[in-house]
Amino acid sequence: MMVAIATALPGFAQAAKPLKVFMTTDMEGVDGIFDLELQCDPQKSPRWEESHRLLTGEVNAAVKGLYEGGATEVFVYDGHNSGRSLSVLGIDPRVHLLEGRPVSPTAELDASYGAFVFVGQHAMAGAEKGVLTHTESSDGIQNVWVNGRPTGEIGFFVMMAGHLGVPAVMLSGDTAACREFHDLVPEAECAEVKTGVSRTAAWMLSHSAACALITEKARRAMQRLAQIKPYKLTGPVEVKVEYTTRGTPLHSCSRRSGTVERPDLGIPRKGYHRRVFDV
Ligand SMILES: [Zn+2]
Repeated sequence: MMVAIATALPGFAQAAKPLKVFMTTDMEGVDGIFDLELQCDPQKSPRWEESHRLLTGEVNAAVKGLYEGGATEVFVYDGHNSGRSLSVLGIDPRVHLLEGRPVSPTAELDASYGAFVFVGQHAMAGAEKGVLTHTESSDGIQNVWVNGRPTGEIGFFVMMAGHLGVPAVMLSGDTAACREFHDLVPEAECAEVKTGVSRTAAWMLSHSAACALITEKARRAMQRLAQIKPYKLTGPVEVKVEYTTRGTPLHSCSRRSGTVERPDLGIPRKGYHRRVFDV
């Protein structure tokens, strides 16, 4: 009897199910971006205004695709430069926009979301031919391993979302970021908007071509949502952080739960930070 009712009213059944999507944004993976000093600092970069417009265009392109594919609400987390990169001016009016810091350790992501997406994402520190690669800080961290696996910001978000039961379904960024994402979630959608030639040079799409691609991939990710599973880590989990000579242990390590050690490895001017926690 239940089946008969659902079949008779498919539109009603669909409308009754809300689908909240969480989007994290960054600048280094946006099409057209290749230089930190010139383009990525809201306070100092001579080409910041252009960067801001490029990022806003890509966010709106993704929002369009997400709604077309079935999202009912889209929440956008401004991830670059401590949440000072987007503006309520120019953003799609259907978006809830999170600006500023501090935010919770999960960037306010929780289990109420049905999908997680990246826009403008860069690859991890040291990734081959990745544009403006880094992990958390631009020059403070050399490497991070999660249970022995090299991991960057993409992995952190994919794993955190997965822990909350939220699948990471789509990413836009350069070729290296797409590769890193697909290594973790092979069935997810990727919009490859630029291809690195070196860390500070890349072949770019036009902005309009990048936006069209992002819309298409975001729409497809929503339509294929049932096929994309949340990433699962089984505890205990060990996170090992190798700092550069200029790096210092991040506050974020100490304010989260778990055991933190700083092993003395006898290597001067390099720090290691290791923590173990249960998921
Ligand atoms: Zn950034």
